[in-house]
Amino acid sequence: MNPATDFPMDEPDARPTIGVPPDEAVKPDAGVLPESASGEGERPEASALCDLCRQPRPEDELLVLWRTRICASCKPAALHRLREGLIVPERLQSALVYAGFWRRFLAKFIDGLVLAAANWAMSLVAMPLLILLNAGSELPVFWFFAIQILLMFLQFVFGVSYYTWLHGRFGATLGKMALGLKVVRPDGSAISYRRAFGRYFGEVLSALLLYVGYLMVAFDEEKRGLHDLVCATRVIHKNVPPLSLGA
Ligand SMILES: [Zn+2]
Repeated sequence: MNPATDFPMDEPDARPTIGVPPDEAVKPDAGVLPESASGEGERPEASALCDLCRQPRPEDELLVLWRTRICASCKPAALHRLREGLIVPERLQSALVYAGFWRRFLAKFIDGLVLAAANWAMSLVAMPLLILLNAGSELPVFWFFAIQILLMFLQFVFGVSYYTWLHGRFGATLGKMALGLKVVRPDGSAISYRRAFGRYFGEVLSALLLYVGYLMVAFDEEKRGLHDLVCATRVIHKNVPPLSLGA
């Protein structure tokens, strides 16, 4: 799986988000990389690239696991992920740890509660309005339905805005934040508001197909739902530091 061929859409406003340095436990000897810091410094002769951090290393210092070359700095993090079952060996080169069906289901459930509460609040506002308008005289049927339709429209707009703004701004809705999930592009960078907006309607499609679009998450090797396939997004565990930037 070559990540470089995996972004069908071009986005000028994409902000890379995985530049955060992994915690101390992950890269214990990150300080011993003078050649990487200077970039053009002297490289060790007969060097090969570590598949995870892309730093040149002497060939004999690289450990080869499942056809992935791993340097000493990357080894603890890679082994940790394999041990914890966060990643399968075939995916060792991937920087991202994809989130599975049940965790995403729970996140969606929380978002459902939030939106239901918001819809309920909007109905609460509309109700006295209907009563006020109706006071004294008979409210024409037209207005009764007009207010109902307006209410539904506002609830729809709120739903679209909720997903678009939170995904575009933070990469996560409240439900995803609660479960440590994040929506990213295949290379791990943040999604734009435009993509977040499109993804909302991708989810509508997944739901319309009797939720099969959501169920696909459970079976796809990168845990993509139909909406992830259509919009070129992935849902990842935010708190698992990336192994590499896939440079
Ligand atoms: Zn490395």
